Amino acid sequence: MGDSITEVASTDEEYAAEQLTRQLSRAVGAATAKALGALDIRSTDELLRHYPRRYLHRGKYTRLADLVPGEHATVMAEVADIESRPARNRKLQVVKVTITDGHTRLPLTFFARHGGMVSHLRRQLPLGASAMFSGQVSLYRNEIQLTHPEYEPLEDAADESRVQEHVNRPVPVYPATTKLPSWKIAKAVRMVLDPMNEADTPEWLPADVVERRRLPAAGAALRMIHQPTADEEWQQAQRRYRYEEAFILQTALARRRADIASYDATPRPPRPDGLVDALDEQLPFDLTTGQRAVSEEISADLAADEPMQRLLQGEVGSGKTVVALRAMLQVIDAGGQAALLAPTEVLAQQHARSIGHLLGPLGEAGMLGGAVDGTRIALLTGSMGAAARRQALADAASGAAGIVIGTHALLSEQVQFADLGLTVVDEQHRFGVEQRDALRAKGRTMPHQLFLTATPIPRSVAMTFFGDVDVSTLREIPAGRSPVQTYSVPADKPRWLSRTWEKVAEEVGKGNRAYVVAPRITSTTPEDDDSPVVALRATDAVGGGTSPGEPSTVEDTYATLGREPALADVALGMMHGRLSSEEKDAAMADFAAGRTPVLVTTTVIEVGVDVPEATAMVILDADRFGISQLHQLRGRVGRGSEPGTCLLVSAAAEASPAWERLNALVQTSDGFVLAERDLEQRREGDVLGAAQSGRGNSLTMLRVLRDRDLIEQARDDARALIADDPNLVHHPEVLTSITRLVDPDHEEYLDRA
Ligand code: ADP
Ligand code: MG
Repeated sequence: MGDSITEVASTDEEYAAEQLTRQLSRAVGAATAKALGALDIRSTDELLRHYPRRYLHRGKYTRLADLVPGEHATVMAEVADIESRPARNRKLQVVKVTITDGHTRLPLTFFARHGGMVSHLRRQLPLGASAMFSGQVSLYRNEIQLTHPEYEPLEDAADESRVQEHVNRPVPVYPATTKLPSWKIAKAVRMVLDPMNEADTPEWLPADVVERRRLPAAGAALRMIHQPTADEEWQQAQRRYRYEEAFILQTALARRRADIASYDATPRPPRPDGLVDALDEQLPFDLTTGQRAVSEEISADLAADEPMQRLLQGEVGSGKTVVALRAMLQVIDAGGQAALLAPTEVLAQQHARSIGHLLGPLGEAGMLGGAVDGTRIALLTGSMGAAARRQALADAASGAAGIVIGTHALLSEQVQFADLGLTVVDEQHRFGVEQRDALRAKGRTMPHQLFLTATPIPRSVAMTFFGDVDVSTLREIPAGRSPVQTYSVPADKPRWLSRTWEKVAEEVGKGNRAYVVAPRITSTTPEDDDSPVVALRATDAVGGGTSPGEPSTVEDTYATLGREPALADVALGMMHGRLSSEEKDAAMADFAAGRTPVLVTTTVIEVGVDVPEATAMVILDADRFGISQLHQLRGRVGRGSEPGTCLLVSAAAEASPAWERLNALVQTSDGFVLAERDLEQRREGDVLGAAQSGRGNSLTMLRVLRDRDLIEQARDDARALIADDPNLVHHPEVLTSITRLVDPDHEEYLDRA
């Protein structure tokens, strides 16, 4: 025992970790403890938190046809055939066992060193017996098989009395390895769980919550999830663990919310006949009902002495800018300043232009022709000249500029404000906590904060990840915009493809522009994507009808389009994340000006770029992108008065899941509908960005869509708890659970979400 621990601990933490590992070794044996290490299980606690993935039932066989090559699988099946023959070298016997689920047969190959082993196998796996088998699913001559198979007969003859009792019990299937099959994990769990007294398991959830939500107690839940006597038991236990996750997350969010609310903000109530009214009077359009409602919510927030924390979501073109501008003007009317933070220089400039345009003379105070009682806009970017920069800094510091727009250059220490009352953060997920904190520190009191996002966030996701902010939504798109027509183009039909390029040429002929989007930059290195393709997990890809072979690349497409007859006279541009920022700016400028009316690009153009003349977009290997990402991409076209066209080129087979995804885009342009669709097919980690997927401590049990009601309950409970005990001094166990599950990384994850 203890032979797995050879190194000497050098810190307290290592020492503590060693103690836990020793404890695990003592409980389950050193060899098993070592094998559990491969599953990142290093203590008995972690072992008990290694929950079964699913449950099997005697007599109900696993569908063998659904097995996915490359995965480790645990199945319940019946022995259909068993035969043995000597191996070529005569020292070994080859035993071939064929198992079946009643439809599909699956061969397993065992090697036996002597005749005794062969008869042992035959005794344990007689024809017609059902057993659990586990192994690596592989393809051999186009047929699936299990390699390195392990098995566990279900009728344990040595223990007749237990058979009856166990006959109807669900059999847990744990995430397992080849070395440590599921039933050995179950055995290890039993060794830890059996000597434990249920009542000794500490209950960390508040007692009233356990009772009100009818959750099984902590100790009972452990038995119910690992050793259920009926399906209802593990279902109840799972509900508790899901609730736990939701509760921890919601308590963390509620604490953050309470923390921010504990700061003072300067109230900025609306002032009649100020800049807000002046703007309204000169707007060339009427605000939509949605814009009015959201503006009122924001206006009320700004008038309070608690810092506003509000997320404004609305699709591209839904008119967020004018809503944000009205908020900024209300703050200016009340004597303060507003800062607008954009993720890129291009977007900062674009904001400065459109806000300048909306304000007209109102934004040119002190300039010839400017309104006397107006304000001024200062634009601060990293690349601007020294004189312009000095002027912008002076305007921000003196308060002459009511609106200061920039990238994160705005966060540098040199930038000072006379009285910062509001920060508006565009596409907030692009900024980290520290950056926002830095900006917040620039106010004398805590500035109000408004976050803008064009990514439609379903209500369930908003509740799960934005529980600490209020959410306003702009659902309608102001009239006057032409919808984008979306079509799918089968990649294997050359006529359709050439028609696609003809369509691009037609648009260019009319003076318009077209994007051609490819998933990758080059084919040489696989990891060079600008935006990793997050949509497809391995399991999706197999049944998904994803385009086989290599995905299209920007470089190859640029070369082939150069030879495409329809585009013979058309100048092509190229754009991707590996270009320097000067090259990128130049490529964008050439495209916008029409010098290169067709731009072959990666998804770098996804965020915010506004070229009103862009009317067509061709997306190659479209099935490699997620629904939401495709929706964002196509939002780049049809931004002017001319209707837009989006062509989704894909080799996905008709009616395959990938094809269904594309079809959803063909059928609707409602971003919220699409976001929900996306969510149904993907794990939330994917929805929130590739970096989150597969993280050990992100949500393991919770599914935001399925568990919406539960999350809502947890949120109510968490808010009540924090209102009662803001620092959790009376609930130290809850605090510990938060720190365990919501590590600093994870907190940041909440921020970026
Ligand atoms: P986004 O939400 O993408 O930031 P914008 O604020 O840029 O959208 O608005 C898109 C376009 O719609 C702009 O040209 C803007 O002036 C215009 N717009 C905004 N609100 C309205 C409205 N109520 N009626 C008509 N046009 C509007
Ligand atoms: Mg905008």
